[in-house]
Amino acid sequence: MKIAYDPIYTHPVPENHRFPMEKYALLQEQLLWEGICQPTDFFTPEKVAMEDLYLAHMPTYVQDFVGLHLEERTRIRIGFVQSQQLVDRELTLVQGTIVGAEYALSERVAFNIAGGTHHAYSDRGEGFCMLNDQAVAAAYLLERGKARRILIIDLDVHQGNGTAEIFAQRPEVFTFSMHAQGNYPFVKEQSDRDIALPNGVGDAAYLAQLSAVLPNLFQQHQPDFVFYQSGVDVLESDKFGKLSLSLAGCRERDRLVFEACAQRQVPVQCSMGGGYSPRLSTILEAHTQTFKVAQEVFDIYS
Ligand SMILES: [Zn+2]
Repeated sequence: MKIAYDPIYTHPVPENHRFPMEKYALLQEQLLWEGICQPTDFFTPEKVAMEDLYLAHMPTYVQDFVGLHLEERTRIRIGFVQSQQLVDRELTLVQGTIVGAEYALSERVAFNIAGGTHHAYSDRGEGFCMLNDQAVAAAYLLERGKARRILIIDLDVHQGNGTAEIFAQRPEVFTFSMHAQGNYPFVKEQSDRDIALPNGVGDAAYLAQLSAVLPNLFQQHQPDFVFYQSGVDVLESDKFGKLSLSLAGCRERDRLVFEACAQRQVPVQCSMGGGYSPRLSTILEAHTQTFKVAQEVFDIYS
C-alpha cells in the first residue's frame, strides 16, 4: 500500500481559521503505530511539473500562485497565508496524488496522506484549496493514456465544486459528489451526479443512498480508474460538517467505496480531504480507519 507523505516542514499557516494541520504528520505515526502500514509504504513526492498542472489549471493562475502574485481577493478566499513553503507543499501534494495514481494502477489502491483539494477551480483557489490534486492526476492519467474513463467519488461533506467545474466539459471524467446541501460552497457547481443531503442525515440514510447509487455510477460510466475523496467532515462531531455520521458509519462508507472498486477490479487513488472534529484523536481515528478498511477489502479481493 503506497502512501504519499506530506512533509511537515512545509505546513502552511491558516489565515483566519483553526485548521488542523497537525493531523497529517500524526496520521502517519498512527498508521505506523497500529501496524497498518510499514515505513517503506511511504514515499515523499517531488514537485509536480508545471505542464502537468496546466492539464487541469489555467497557466496564468498557476503562474500567479507559484510566483506568489495572487490577488488579495483570491488569497482571502483560499484562507492560507501565501508563502514559498505553501507553494512547495502544494506542488509536492499534487505530485503525491499523481504518483499515487500510478502506484494504484499496479497495486490497486494508493493514498495521499493529504490532498483532496476539491475546491480548487481551473482558474482560482478557495476553501483551503489551491491546486486540485485529484483533478490534475485524473487529467494526467488521461493525457498519458493510462486511463480512459475516470470516476471521481467525492464524499467530503462539502461539494467538490472545483472538480465539477474543471471536468464540466470532459465526458471521460464522471464527477460524483455527495455532500451537505446547507454547507459551503453555498453556490454549488453541477457535478455529473450530485446528491445534496439535508442537515443531520445519519448513518442509515446516508449509507442507503450511497449503496444505491454506487452500482449505477459504475454501470453508467464504466470507469477504468477511480479517485476517492474521503473527507471525514461527515462526522457528527465535525465543527463544519452538518451531517451526523458516526465513526462506524464513516467506516462503512469507506467500505462501500473500496468494495465497489475491488469487486470490479478498478484501481483507486484516495486523498484524505477535510476533517475538523474538535478532538484531533477523532479525526485521526476516522482517517486511519479509511486505510484499514482499504487494506481489509483489497486483501479479500486479492
Ligand atoms: Zn470538506
